[in-house]
Amino acid sequence: MRRIVRKELTPATTAALERRQAEADSARASGMLDVNAAWRAARDSSEFRPVLLALQDMSGHARRCMYCLDSHGTDVEHFRPKSVYPESMFRWANLLLGCTECGRFKGNRFPVDEHGVPQLIDPTSVDPWEHLDFDPATGILTARFDPARGAPSPIGVATVEILRLDQREVLSRGHSRTFRRLCGVVERATASGRVDAVGLMHELLAADDHGLVDWCFSVRGRREEPFRTLYERHHDAWEACAQHLSLA
Ligand SMILES: [Zn+2]
Repeated sequence: MRRIVRKELTPATTAALERRQAEADSARASGMLDVNAAWRAARDSSEFRPVLLALQDMSGHARRCMYCLDSHGTDVEHFRPKSVYPESMFRWANLLLGCTECGRFKGNRFPVDEHGVPQLIDPTSVDPWEHLDFDPATGILTARFDPARGAPSPIGVATVEILRLDQREVLSRGHSRTFRRLCGVVERATASGRVDAVGLMHELLAADDHGLVDWCFSVRGRREEPFRTLYERHHDAWEACAQHLSLA
């Protein structure tokens, strides 16, 4: 996963979504709301096209699923499932781009803690790497160990379990491939002796299909070679890259 910045919709598209939500709310108040029919009608309308385009734009040039970053993002995904939270079905902040497989695994599951905080990562509102970890040896995503709790992040645990992030071979293979590519970029840069931080960052981001660059420049990633060499021997370049990522 990677952090995703949510785009602003135009006032006209925002108004169209608000109107759909108001219609759904009033149908629900009178017991007449058919969630799936209301959703289909909106999704097939021309006024919904800018919503899909904005989500595709947010997901990057390959238009990958915002949860797994591996499969093509084909569906508009409701972070809060629309059948459980119809009051959020047309809320822009609740819409993501997802793949069929993640959608199937997630279904209507949406755990919340005792304060109502979702126990699932929304990459447009939290940094996924606060809750997830990556194992470079296997390519598998796991829940991040939270030292303050002395236990893995509950949000990470639930996200991995619901989306089966640690059980999908295609995902671990894809993450391993991306990690090897990122390692190759850093190895070539450090071999030259003098590291051009701007060029390095540019190459890393271009090679990062799975959002791993943030992990590579975290406390965990910098212990792994060749990021460790970059951190220890080319510290200015490492610092410049880390700075760039924190501002991105
Ligand atoms: Zn997916």
